[in-house]
Amino acid sequence: MKLIYNYTFEDLQELLLEKGFKKYRTSQVWDWLYDKKVNSFELMKNLPSDLLEYLNNNYTFDSLALIQRQVSTDGTQKFLYKLLDGNLIESVVMRHHYGNSICISTQIGCNIGCSFCASGQLKRIRNLDVGEMVLQVLESERLMGEKIDSVVLMGIGEPFDNFDNVVKLLKILNHQKGFNIGARRLTVSTSGIVPKIYEFADLKLQVNLALSLHAATDELRSKLMKINNVYNIEKLMESLNYYLQVTNRRVTIEYILIDGVNDREKDAINLVNLLKGMNVYINLIPYNKVFETEYERSREANQKRFLHLLKRGGLDVTLRKEQGHDIEAACGQLRSKAEKKKK
Ligand code: SAH
Ligand code: SF4
Repeated sequence: MKLIYNYTFEDLQELLLEKGFKKYRTSQVWDWLYDKKVNSFELMKNLPSDLLEYLNNNYTFDSLALIQRQVSTDGTQKFLYKLLDGNLIESVVMRHHYGNSICISTQIGCNIGCSFCASGQLKRIRNLDVGEMVLQVLESERLMGEKIDSVVLMGIGEPFDNFDNVVKLLKILNHQKGFNIGARRLTVSTSGIVPKIYEFADLKLQVNLALSLHAATDELRSKLMKINNVYNIEKLMESLNYYLQVTNRRVTIEYILIDGVNDREKDAINLVNLLKGMNVYINLIPYNKVFETEYERSREANQKRFLHLLKRGGLDVTLRKEQGHDIEAACGQLRSKAEKKKK
């Protein structure tokens, strides 16, 4: 049995045609799945019995069981789900003036192993299926009774380490007769898997790319992110320039601010020199303390100084406002709670 949510429209069409069903049946099934959003084949009233039988015998709807739901005082909600194999994943829904945005996980654990990140303390166990990612959006919508307007792939895992599934997910979320979430409301965040940045650029999906930079010199970045030993800043910048040129889309640079580590005046100057003149937007994120690490959040005065120095250097930058602090719903904190629950 496979998850019915694993398939893009094109994949589903190919599958049904192969089994001898008429082409227009794909649109009907798709409509039930992603417009009416039913969760049983029996409810798909306009399908012939042979198709219903085929679907029932080969596909399933379920893989996520809600284990815990937390609601923050600011409206942010965190959902902890158990997968069929017992692994736990989390998604977070944030409310903004422009709608609801969800932060979803792409893997169980993460092999990139950044020294500051809770998700990276747990080696990757496996990639999530397409359907397991789709369901994080669908289930959260169902549970909240509200539509999700934008999706960020910034939960647990490295999206580009699960590249093919992530691309399928983006196509499903973007499909006009389904979720219909505009490409510009979809954001993929990567730690900088250089070959995949080239590949992603060539797909010309029009979705947003966010790059986790966190340091402007190889010495510092390698300490924070060991992936920098494989793809250093020079290689990363080359791929970023290629991406900017091919897609003509502005890229978000994520930069977490860690006390005394990468929030000093010289770090800001290095960053300005690295990014000056590029079509990027810098998102400064005050570090969220992770229990197992030695790092601390940048002090408020230093956060502001950093912001000011980047602005003065001509960069387009914002300091992220925090949401869901009381329920530990921030990026990079999602794993620790889930693991505590498992023990
Ligand atoms: N693996 C991808 C996406 C998931 S992490 C990536 O690294 O980009 C999403 C973002 O959260 C990244 O920018 C990551 O560096 C950041 N992050 C990780 N741990 C954090 C923490 N403790 N506090 C703040 N941001 C964190
Ligand atoms: Fe993985 Fe991203 Fe965490 Fe690094 S920051 S360990 S890439 S989830």
